[in-house]
Amino acid sequence: MERNLFAVKVTQDVLREYARLIVRFGANVQPGQTVLLYIAAEQSAFAAMITEECYLAGAKKVNLEWQCDSISRLHFRYAAQDVLAEVAEWEESKAGRMIEELPCRIFIESEDPDAMAGISPEKLSAVHRSRAGVLKPYLDAIEGKHQWTIAAIASEKWAMKCFPGETAERAMEKLWDAILMTVRVDGVSDPAKAWQAHTAFIEKKADWLNAQGFRYLHYKSANGTDFTTELIPGARWEGAATVNTHNGVSYIPNMPTEEIFTSPLAGSCEGTLVATKPLSWNSQLIENFSIQFKNGRAVSCKAEKGQELLEKMLRMDDCSDMLGEAALVPKESPVNRCGFLFFETLFDENACCHVALGAGFKEVLPDGDSLTVAEAQARGVNDSVIHVDFMIGSDDLAIDGIRPDGSRVPVFRDGTWA
Ligand code: ZN
Repeated sequence: MERNLFAVKVTQDVLREYARLIVRFGANVQPGQTVLLYIAAEQSAFAAMITEECYLAGAKKVNLEWQCDSISRLHFRYAAQDVLAEVAEWEESKAGRMIEELPCRIFIESEDPDAMAGISPEKLSAVHRSRAGVLKPYLDAIEGKHQWTIAAIASEKWAMKCFPGETAERAMEKLWDAILMTVRVDGVSDPAKAWQAHTAFIEKKADWLNAQGFRYLHYKSANGTDFTTELIPGARWEGAATVNTHNGVSYIPNMPTEEIFTSPLAGSCEGTLVATKPLSWNSQLIENFSIQFKNGRAVSCKAEKGQELLEKMLRMDDCSDMLGEAALVPKESPVNRCGFLFFETLFDENACCHVALGAGFKEVLPDGDSLTVAEAQARGVNDSVIHVDFMIGSDDLAIDGIRPDGSRVPVFRDGTWA
């Protein structure tokens, strides 16, 4: 695949510009706000840049949550499951403070995709589930009421995973190059301007989809994809910017972001989806696979590589064989143009059209923020312990929207907006 990257030299100035974009455009930090920054301990130089940019934007205080892959791995290797699963009282009161402060949260990803390879997935998910059970009410309480953003910076382990044949230095250059291209930082023009145009385009397309009131989407491609999913009446298509309902400030949850997404009606789809990119799950690859759906559930699957893993994923719980997301991304996406797998959903899900197995998004329902997960589920938004995106966009993918009266409207042709 053609590589058409900017080849930006990663200078301190370029990094500073990226940090400013994350703070001012991504999280859109407002004067007087508290910021919570989640970042790897090895990335302290970039953490300092983000921190300073937050203060320059008027932040009242920036608090850091340092992460460290190699230490998390040691915890999982040596500490008992019930010890790790426990949420300490101080952790809970810290989470409780978020409800009063409604901080801006900035997540900077740079983790090694294989950080947890070899650790029992059962232990990982049991610990995750039990901690999430205690902490979720706090997160639910600030959902929709605070600004947050996830962005990424290169790390050596991550770069070597993407470019195993290269020297560490060259791999880092290539990964940085790709990251900066996808977030529209080219070292020359104003990235905020490029983002304004980009988010306006996504908003226009989402508005158009919302106005159509489609009941079904039908996907077809020469690779064997022939699939129809029903949509939830009144559920919205969303993308790029989101608004903090507490203060009306808009922010960008993911950088990069190319998708317009909704949650389809769980339990109502038919046909075959053929994956067009490898899927990395639990640090293992599933390749060249397809999934057959009947009455809304995956009934069979075929993978050239990772068959067992795919079957296991579909059986994670009662609803992991149903869809929680349908997302539209044109083939011209900068992530797609990079032409390699990032092993990081933040990037990989922005390569082309995809769906996700497992949990959906209650926010797409008109009054979604005020619903419990069970209420949203009763209205057709899937719920599951997994949410796994896989890519189905191809160069010839055609998608039709089907209205309640049966009339069809072209949405995608040849892998891009019709
Ligand atoms: Zn998505």
